Amino acid sequence: MTDQTLPPQERTGYAVIGLGELTEAQLFPAFHLSQRSRLAALVSGDSNKAREQARRLGLSDADVYDYDHFEDLRERADVQAVFIVLPNSLHREFTERAARIGKQVLCEKPLAVSVQDAEAMVRVCAEAGVLLMTAYRIQYTPHHQLARELMESGQLGRVKLLDAVNVQTEPNEGQWRLKRALAGGGSLPDVGLYCLNTARYLIGEEPYEVFAWTHSTPGDPRFAEVEESVSFTLRFPSGVVSNNLCSYGAAHHRSLRVLAERANLTLDPAFDYTNLRIRNDSQTEVKEYLVKEADQFALELDHFSACVQSGRQPFTPGEEGLQDVRIIAAIYQSAAEGRPVQLQRFEGRDVFRGQPPERAERERS
Ligand code: NAD
Repeated sequence: MTDQTLPPQERTGYAVIGLGELTEAQLFPAFHLSQRSRLAALVSGDSNKAREQARRLGLSDADVYDYDHFEDLRERADVQAVFIVLPNSLHREFTERAARIGKQVLCEKPLAVSVQDAEAMVRVCAEAGVLLMTAYRIQYTPHHQLARELMESGQLGRVKLLDAVNVQTEPNEGQWRLKRALAGGGSLPDVGLYCLNTARYLIGEEPYEVFAWTHSTPGDPRFAEVEESVSFTLRFPSGVVSNNLCSYGAAHHRSLRVLAERANLTLDPAFDYTNLRIRNDSQTEVKEYLVKEADQFALELDHFSACVQSGRQPFTPGEEGLQDVRIIAAIYQSAAEGRPVQLQRFEGRDVFRGQPPERAERERS
């Protein structure tokens, strides 16, 4: 990879809001691996835990904020951005609060739990003149970038079908992911969103129709408020059909296939954090690509930092996350009504995306 490592004072400084599993296990290590991003402050409801983590990460007690004193970050010139890593229904509140104090916003997926919330987030950030990026790590991941290039190159022939599965078991009844008010839904906005967003990214078009079914095991207390499984089919203007399955009730499996006229691509695993694999099966050969992996979260962070530093629109802005929230609403409507639902038609490619990440972020061997 071209070394774009910036000295600390030139990097974008972040306040991370929400110190749960993703932050601890993935984002703190990603800051160490990043080239343009710097961890500068922690925002948490648990000040003791946050102070302990701050010390471990080389920050001080003064870098720890609780939710009530979030606005004190206004005075911190070395914090230009926030990374919101809270339960889904809290994304809107903290996006709006961050925008009001002039901070750039990187927000975890799903962007919001309703179309109304997602639209408000996009609007408030635009009015405040701050960037809003949806943290879609898959769109910054070399394996997926290669898949999209192969599809675009014509080598596979015309792409006909995509087939994506993202399932896992969600055993913990107390989890916020199983509470409708916090999560906005069940497996669909959490793991099914990977199938949806990756299909849109790889095909590059916007679906115009969706047909869906939901299912929850009767009597299973985990699924009293949110759905267990969803099957949904999307139709795209060029004729590509994408079939998708997501669930909280089946053992971990995350794969994606692209079925085209002359060859098929298989990504398996497709949505894990590491060890992704991509294979090309044509009638004459089976080829496994050697793609050098890089930390997905560091790539995503550094893309946003590059956007903050240059003022350009991120590849996955708020509008990209909003479009998925709209489609999720249509998926639930289709399942509830037992019929296909039409989506607003959009012509052209990448209609909701900003400038692609720089080539240097896409090393492969
Ligand atoms: P988590 O439960 O591990 O952490 C959530 C954090 O929010 C905790 O620190 C918790 O204390 C805090 N919190 C504040 N108010 C809360 C409330 N009312 N209820 C519960 N917790 C509250 O969750 P996580 O897995 O870190 O997920 C956080 C966000 O990150 C979600 O939006 C999720 O969809 C997203 N996520 C993204 C990826 C990815 O690969 N991009 C992976 C996992 C999670």
